[in-house]
Amino acid sequence: MSDVIVIGGGLAGLASSVALAQAGVTVTLLESRPRLGGRASSLEDSATGELIDNCQHVAMGCCTNFRHFCRVTGLEAAFRQERELFFVAPPTVTTGDRPHVCRFSAMPLPAPLHLAAAFLRLSYLSWREKLTLARGLKALAREQPKAARHKNFGDWLAEQRQPANVIERFWLVVLVSALSESLNRVSVDAAKKVFVDGFLANRHGWEVRLPTVPLDELYSGQLTRWLTSHGVEVRLKSGVERLALENDRVAAVELRSGERLSAQQFVLAVPQHRVCSFLPDAWHDKPPFNRLDQLQTAPIASVHLWFDRPITELPHAVLVGRLSQWMFNRSRAEGKEARSERAQPNYFQVIISNAREVAERSQLEVIAEVVSELKAVWPEAASAVLLHSRMIVEHKAVFSPLPGSDELRPVQQSPMANLQLAGDWTQTGWPATMEGAVRSGFLAAENIVRVLGREVSLLQPDLPVSWLTRWWLG
Ligand SMILES: Cc1cc2nc3c(=O)[nH]c(=O)nc-3n(C[C@H](O)[C@H](O)[C@H](O)COP(=O)(O)OP(=O)(O)OC[C@H]3O[C@@H](n4cnc5c(N)ncnc54)[C@H](O)[C@@H]3O)c2cc1C
Repeated sequence: MSDVIVIGGGLAGLASSVALAQAGVTVTLLESRPRLGGRASSLEDSATGELIDNCQHVAMGCCTNFRHFCRVTGLEAAFRQERELFFVAPPTVTTGDRPHVCRFSAMPLPAPLHLAAAFLRLSYLSWREKLTLARGLKALAREQPKAARHKNFGDWLAEQRQPANVIERFWLVVLVSALSESLNRVSVDAAKKVFVDGFLANRHGWEVRLPTVPLDELYSGQLTRWLTSHGVEVRLKSGVERLALENDRVAAVELRSGERLSAQQFVLAVPQHRVCSFLPDAWHDKPPFNRLDQLQTAPIASVHLWFDRPITELPHAVLVGRLSQWMFNRSRAEGKEARSERAQPNYFQVIISNAREVAERSQLEVIAEVVSELKAVWPEAASAVLLHSRMIVEHKAVFSPLPGSDELRPVQQSPMANLQLAGDWTQTGWPATMEGAVRSGFLAAENIVRVLGREVSLLQPDLPVSWLTRWWLG
């Protein structure tokens, strides 16, 4: 019998298992699917036979816990850091025949000055708009947390008199890809988190890291080997049916197969809308479980395109003012050696966050619109033949950070003494991200290690706030 049973092999369950194994606790990890990674995983494309990610996953420099998790498990070598970001100007702003590409990179200056030149290079905003934007960023960073939690960001932008162009071409572009929601469905607090942690606090916060291998290779491959070599029993295709409770404690888990497994402590690391299905009816009306179905969710769509030739040499692009939001050149995602053996030639992924409207439309129509946008941006694409395409919509991709939504998110310690909750939807201080999921896993593990008689701090500190930012914000 293991000390701890972790239910769910997404990043929250994986982070719990890693942290507990490092603390010398024995763990059994139960995952219902045949692979690990949860919402950050791959699937086999039946037409090409290749493993493709359900969606490109991006980590940022401010994701200190996700980075720590990758460092201790040896996954970090499978990530590449982008030195610059490429913003493609909206369709109406052109330089010559092609939409202008603005290169966004940091200067060797302390935050927040490190990105000043990058903002100034955004040619599709006027000088006046850039000044208004700078004023808006400062006001946002100074917002008091309590007020910020209950106000929506769309209203806040109107109060701050941010012009429509700045909203469409800057605030929306950043927030929709970070939070996958429209501006009226985002709290000021959540928006503040994205801009302060990502752009203002520390010069490394904005740095983008991309996996160079399919997510499945990271989690079902390398990480599984790490877990097994550290004594974690990983059981795939082991769906849990319910938790068996005795005197308000979890006594065992019952698997769909009928098997019953006991442990001292349990971590329930499944999506929030699944939690109540594991509990007896009597618990559904008790806090925090009675509030979980009020956490709303937002969809993300990924369009996967295979062409007969390269359409651009750029590794990625942020497409401003279009249906397509991010383009990832997956043929260039992998290293040189990997490219010859495994990389899929001329494979591109286009991401559409806050994809409610897209989810209502036909795949063919969305793919046609995305391809025509790519052809308008990159003339090379005009002569390229689309060999194969598909769209994947994750309907409950992330929870919506609506004003007040933080109050619906429970802490990891559940009302049952030996049950921890973990998942990006629990109280982490972060939106639904890999960082949020890993934080929740570390916090759950921290609680368990404490119960077992040791005080440890597993949560990693945030990047330090630069002296200049502290002075600038007073
Ligand atoms: C399309 C998409 C794009 C995203 N892009 C990004 C990004 O670029 N950057 C970023 O940081 N984040 C991104 N995210 C968010 C990120 O993927 C999630 O926040 C994170 O993966 C959530 O991890 P989790 O462990 O909390 O939940 P999940 O990944 O949902 O894990 C829950 C696990 O529980 C398992 N499970 C469920 N029921 C049972 C059962 N009965 N028995 C056993 N196991 C069970 C599930 O199979 C799953 O593996 C994206 C998410 C999506 C969907």
